[in-house]
Amino acid sequence: YAKRSGGNDIVEFEPSMVELHHQRTQLEQDLIQAIADNQIKPHYQPLVDLTKEEIRGFEVLARWTHPVQGNIPPDMFIKVAEEIGVITELSDSIFRQACQDALDWPQHMILSFNLSPLQLSDQLISQRLIDILAETGFPPSRLVVEITESALVHDFDAASLALGKLREAGIQVALDDFGTGYSNLSQLSKLQFDSIKIDRSLISNFTRDEKQIGIVRTILALSEGLGMYATAEGIEDEDQLATLRELGCECGQGFFLGRPIGAEATHELLKTIEQVGSKKAIATLT
Ligand code: C2E
Ligand code: MG
Ligand code: MG
Ligand code: MG
Repeated sequence: YAKRSGGNDIVEFEPSMVELHHQRTQLEQDLIQAIADNQIKPHYQPLVDLTKEEIRGFEVLARWTHPVQGNIPPDMFIKVAEEIGVITELSDSIFRQACQDALDWPQHMILSFNLSPLQLSDQLISQRLIDILAETGFPPSRLVVEITESALVHDFDAASLALGKLREAGIQVALDDFGTGYSNLSQLSKLQFDSIKIDRSLISNFTRDEKQIGIVRTILALSEGLGMYATAEGIEDEDQLATLRELGCECGQGFFLGRPIGAEATHELLKTIEQVGSKKAIATLT
């Protein structure tokens, strides 16, 4: 309907409830179709070994370019997929494409894949991943599954069971966005993560903040104490990178080290690495 605002003649149009409902229904239908057509594509962001200055693998980040609305952020369409009960189909589609893409990466590189908290309470989740690995021929030992702390809050027993099965199959597990949730440290020690990813909210601005540096230093000590390696997320500049190196953080990720790119561009990047070496190739990304 048209709303006449504050006495002047400017007329604002606001979508009515009916229109909003229609838009949402349309988005749901488009999402279902996009999943069926494999239109939601895995992109890949480099995970960089900060000591060797080498790419040790890539994190899979889902991308959907909607024909009318353009790019829709994964946080949003993953939530919608969960709400309408198609998260399994969506996740399988992205994972299958990613395994196929990663087949021609160098043998030492890992593929890091996100699971949402809801998926972790699906009792069949680990078997589905294992089946897709077998079907595509991508080795379990090169897969890392990332889960956020909220998965543990959501349903600790289910998460614990699923993580156990993944590790039994030789798959690594990483705790994502560490430092944002309700870190229950006793749960952390029970669960045997292979690595933790320090959330980017702790990394941004941190070179100018001694307290924040102190927190990151403590997280690094904690992860080492629990036998895990650490990845810092959201590295956006040289100072952050230098500070993390000084603190002894093993691995980094962020726009300064490389943005998420499509399968084709990843393939090109890996060819460049083969030709000029990792250091120079990483430098071309920034
Ligand atoms: P995440 O797993 O923590 O992924 C990292 C997010 O940080 C990505 O956002 C990435 O693009 C962004 N990022 C990386 N480096 C930087 C940086 O230097 N600066 C800033 N400002 N951001 C950076 P994206 O791609 O929008 O994904 C958001 C979240 O959506 C992910 O957070 C993950 O939880 C979820 N997600 C993405 N793809 C999938 C998927 O295939 N399955 C599931 N279940 N969740 C996914
Ligand atoms: Mg992640
Ligand atoms: Mg994260
Ligand atoms: Mg996140």
